Amino acid sequence: MLRSTILATILLLPLPARAGCLIALDIGHYAEAPGEISARGVPELVYNIALTERVKAALDRAEIAAVVINAHGDIAELAQRPRRAQAAGASLLVSLHHDSVQDGYKSTWEWKGAYRAYSDVFSGFGLFVSGRNPAVAESLKVAEDLGDGLTAAGLSPSLHHAEAIPGENRPLLDVGRGIYRFDDLAVLRQAAMPAVLVEAGIIVNRADEEVITSEPYRAVFAAAIAQAAAGHCRRLESKAAIQ
Ligand SMILES: [Zn+2]
Repeated sequence: MLRSTILATILLLPLPARAGCLIALDIGHYAEAPGEISARGVPELVYNIALTERVKAALDRAEIAAVVINAHGDIAELAQRPRRAQAAGASLLVSLHHDSVQDGYKSTWEWKGAYRAYSDVFSGFGLFVSGRNPAVAESLKVAEDLGDGLTAAGLSPSLHHAEAIPGENRPLLDVGRGIYRFDDLAVLRQAAMPAVLVEAGIIVNRADEEVITSEPYRAVFAAAIAQAAAGHCRRLESKAAIQ
């Protein structure tokens, strides 16, 4: 009885961060409010879970310590996400999402007997950092490495969040790598560690949805995030060596 209590206590302890480096992968949205709805009627949360699992597997293979935040898709309060990342000892937070566009760009089509909103106008990924995050320089460095990995694999960013229309107007920090500044994104702003929010692709785009949800596309993201995470870990190690 006592032994099982001790064992249960040990299992509940946060994962130890190896060499100070631990990547928290946050699954965007939750069951009651599952985010954007794809051109084929699939909630964003479903795709965020699948991508996060793929990224986690890549980090495991690269022997980079990682923990998944919101693994059960039940965290409603945004502030809980960075808080749990901090409790786990995370040195970097990456929040994984799939993107949409403003309603004015949407039309309707019929898919499997149901009318669905879609927009084929924009295509590509987006990366977000907050100027109010306490580690904005490292957040930006991770986003740059990630953007390099994605563009080297042949992907392109979508710049539609920079358009001067209501709901967008996000300052572009890096056009080539699709990095936006979005100071008030709660998950990034409230994180005590560097943090990047990833929009993996626009799931209201009918052709893109098929590509974005394919294994090769997820593999590109997994590899790019693993590479950017490895860079983050190396910087942490060299900083620790100097101190
Ligand atoms: Zn989202």
